[in-house]
Amino acid sequence: MYQPDLVKEIFSSALPGEWSRWQWQFSHRIRGLKALSELLQLSPSEIGTYRDLISEYRYAVTPYYLSLIDWSDPNDPIKRQCIPDPREITFSLPGSEIDPLAEQTHMPVPGLIHRYPDRVLAMVTNTCATYCRHCNRKRTWKNPEAGNTREALGRMVNYVASNPHIREVIVSGGDPLIMSLGLLDEFLGSLEAIPHVEVLRIGTRVPVVLPMRITDDLCQMLARHRPLWVNTHFNHPREITPESTQACERLLKVGIPVSNQTVLLKGVNDSLDVMRDLFCGLERIMVRPYYLFQCDAVKGTDHFRTDIRRGIEIMEGLWCKIGGLCIPNFVVDLPMGGGKAPMMPSYLLAVDRNEAIFRTYDGCIIRYPCPGGADNPP
Ligand code: SF4
Repeated sequence: MYQPDLVKEIFSSALPGEWSRWQWQFSHRIRGLKALSELLQLSPSEIGTYRDLISEYRYAVTPYYLSLIDWSDPNDPIKRQCIPDPREITFSLPGSEIDPLAEQTHMPVPGLIHRYPDRVLAMVTNTCATYCRHCNRKRTWKNPEAGNTREALGRMVNYVASNPHIREVIVSGGDPLIMSLGLLDEFLGSLEAIPHVEVLRIGTRVPVVLPMRITDDLCQMLARHRPLWVNTHFNHPREITPESTQACERLLKVGIPVSNQTVLLKGVNDSLDVMRDLFCGLERIMVRPYYLFQCDAVKGTDHFRTDIRRGIEIMEGLWCKIGGLCIPNFVVDLPMGGGKAPMMPSYLLAVDRNEAIFRTYDGCIIRYPCPGGADNPP
């Protein structure tokens, strides 16, 4: 497999044992114009465009995630997700915005999004191991990489404590598993101590882009805060590697369920075969496909957006062809903070008090008698 010289250099620079240390991976992230220029073999005339691009939307990629790229394929799906693309600053569809979900206007305290009555989302850092080019929080990349201070996290905890309707806290970012173990432990502990908080959830892409971060220490710490769920973010079957499988397994072994949300991305996974392989692969490693998201209308990501009907076609192609455990909910997160709307092909053609008429996944028509059952006596 062809690899640029810079990639070979990075791989060979790891001393024995270093490659599998998350700290080495994190401190050797590929970033900056010079590295990008070498990776993409940019001509002098292209360099200016990429300079503007990465000053608008930063980039960083772990050596591990970079190692998954097949450099001989110009359309490699891993490369598309992590290497900046000039279309991020040159291509825009009508209506796309920097914050289409209006997260900033649903923040009662900085960094804490309260959109649904029973749950909040805490953005605890703006730092990620690898910056996904399709990220819907690209607006936070303008600020230097930083985690929230203990005081800022404390203000979030106080808000949750004073709102008894909140039963679930989603800890997100950026990537919360980039935080120091001690501070994350403290934050989770403070939330757990609030009597009305029943469940904690962590949204992280670390198992996919920096799987060596899922250490025994981290797992033991997270396990102390159960019930705690981890929701990760695999988008392509090639991301299911021995390393990412082991990371998920470590979490599962300490009793932390792992689910996944995928974003439907043009040129990455907008095909039935890729989605089938991805969702079946996740089931094999015991990660439950939870959501398939229509790509949000976020400025800087429009080149990834597909026709919304493409996702419905894919769902139709999956339904009954693979087991229900492998099939996520396909949803669009509605603009203006309207919440999630599910989108499924419809199999119910008609219903009245006598019967419901269905089409099956393979095109037959089947009648179900008396749909009201005992609630609808003749
Ligand atoms: S890991 Fe999540 S928050 Fe970070 S860049 Fe990727 S999608 Fe965005």
